[in-house]
Amino acid sequence: MGEIVVQPLSTEEVIDVFQYCNEQNLAVTIRGAGTGNYGQAVPLEGGVVLDLSRMDQIEEIQSQGVAVCQPGVRLGTLENEARKMGWELRCYPSTIIKATVGGFLGGGSGGIGSVAHGNLRDFQTVRALEVVTMEEEARAVKHEGQAVHEILHAWGTNGAITRIWLALTPSVEWSQCAVAFDTFDAAFDFSEKIATGVEWKKRLVTTFEWPIPSFFEPVKQCVREGKALVFFMIAAEQCEALEDEARKDGGIVTHAGPYTGLKARPLLSDYTWNHTTLWAIRADEAYTYLQCGFDPDTVRYQMRKLKERFGGEIIFHMEFMKNADGRVIPGALPLVYYKSEERLNEMIDFCREIGVFVANPHVNNVEGGGRYREDNVQLLAKKKYDPKGLLNPGKMITFHAKDPAR
Ligand SMILES: Cc1cc2nc3c(=O)[nH]c(=O)nc-3n(C[C@H](O)[C@H](O)[C@H](O)COP(=O)(O)OP(=O)(O)OC[C@H]3O[C@@H](n4cnc5c(N)ncnc54)[C@H](O)[C@@H]3O)c2cc1C
Repeated sequence: MGEIVVQPLSTEEVIDVFQYCNEQNLAVTIRGAGTGNYGQAVPLEGGVVLDLSRMDQIEEIQSQGVAVCQPGVRLGTLENEARKMGWELRCYPSTIIKATVGGFLGGGSGGIGSVAHGNLRDFQTVRALEVVTMEEEARAVKHEGQAVHEILHAWGTNGAITRIWLALTPSVEWSQCAVAFDTFDAAFDFSEKIATGVEWKKRLVTTFEWPIPSFFEPVKQCVREGKALVFFMIAAEQCEALEDEARKDGGIVTHAGPYTGLKARPLLSDYTWNHTTLWAIRADEAYTYLQCGFDPDTVRYQMRKLKERFGGEIIFHMEFMKNADGRVIPGALPLVYYKSEERLNEMIDFCREIGVFVANPHVNNVEGGGRYREDNVQLLAKKKYDPKGLLNPGKMITFHAKDPAR
């Protein structure tokens, strides 16, 4: 629990708060909307919760497609405003309506749109950011180019992001489409073909093994009993062609219609990325999940091995995404039917043994979560910007303050 909540309105106020906390040796946990998993925004040592949700101004959407905004802007608001000017977000989490831009940079990675534009870290999507430091003299510093990686996904342990320059992409008229297949293999083959086919303009390609679709009560019109399901966001002008292709490959098109923005009903993205896990947990609290990256060349072998070893304890939920080299790869947030911590760790170890990358969501430190940078830049920035270790203490476990403040 934090002991006090502070809601600054400007960078100058954040500097004042940090200056005071530094003098008083008070811990500070930064918070956007609090949707981060891993317990990222949960204070471990009390102190101040710095709620940045009122720093919510979009300052500018530049003509070359860069949004300049404060950290508390909701991603959904930015998407809506950008679309009015012919732009849209390159990638966003399924929590778009609630989550803030600062929280996404501080704790997120990618999501809808990543199949075309990679993750937040890739392709210079974050052009620059301003960060307030917890140095003896708190100050605002601008990080540009590669230097943004010192602060991205550091869980607010090495500074408060107070201004963001975020690259957008030209907006597209999208459609949503759902296709059911008799088998997961057929669904996976089809989704892989569309995800990797350069001729298809897409924002989302998500594949669910049965019984995951059975958890999607509000969109049951898109579900067919016992069948695997694929959800797409596809350029409107290609929707009919996608439907034809799906039928040719044995699929049943269960929904096809325009995407009218975040208020669209149904909003298929509400069932994808980590929202899938949420629907599963709602149906049965024993479900949890992993965050995986499969090898595009051996993915079928890897999935078979996992099934042979763990059977119905692992249920596939694939999310295609572009990696930093420009290749579209099968990412995944498979559901796991939780039995024990040992069994979960056995599954993680086995994944790694057969070459499946795992970002473990069952830890609450930056290093263990799978997005810690091997070049250590997040830790080095913490040593520089937060030498007393006051920012989100306990979440960067390789950091040890020379002169612990608390
Ligand atoms: C159901 C569900 C689905 C999700 N789906 C996705 C997904 O598809 N993709 C994805 O990447 N993530 C996903 N997430 C994780 C999370 O929603 C996103 O990362 C989201 O962008 C976090 O935004 P937030 O404003 O809620 O941040 P918070 O939870 O408030 O903060 C996240 C972390 O960033 C730090 N932080 C917040 N603001 C700042 C700031 N201004 N400066 C420095 N540090 C800061 C916090 O201290 C915390 O450590 C999901 C989570 C849930 C619960």
